[in-house]
Amino acid sequence: MTIETDTRLLTAATAAAPGWRDFALCRVTDPEAFFPETGENGRPAKRVCAGCEVREACLAEALAHDERFGIWGGLTTAERRKYHPKRRR
Ligand code: SF4
Repeated sequence: MTIETDTRLLTAATAAAPGWRDFALCRVTDPEAFFPETGENGRPAKRVCAGCEVREACLAEALAHDERFGIWGGLTTAERRKYHPKRRR
């Protein structure tokens, strides 16, 4: 499976789960952890994402809307960049 295929599947996951935010584990945690300062690694937020049942839908939403800030679906902005369709080669 290619990254392009993965992105399509993730986008489909978002379309199939419009209410995914209701199940977001980060709703009951410190929201600031998901927006680490420059130089921070975001590990605490990533640990929360690892146990989140809507991680795929969250990541798909971030990719679909080209979110530039924060940790979504367990990935930082830089980590998401490689999955963005416009930035892949
Ligand atoms: S994957 Fe992470 S950022 Fe996304 S909803 Fe779950 S806990 Fe929140």
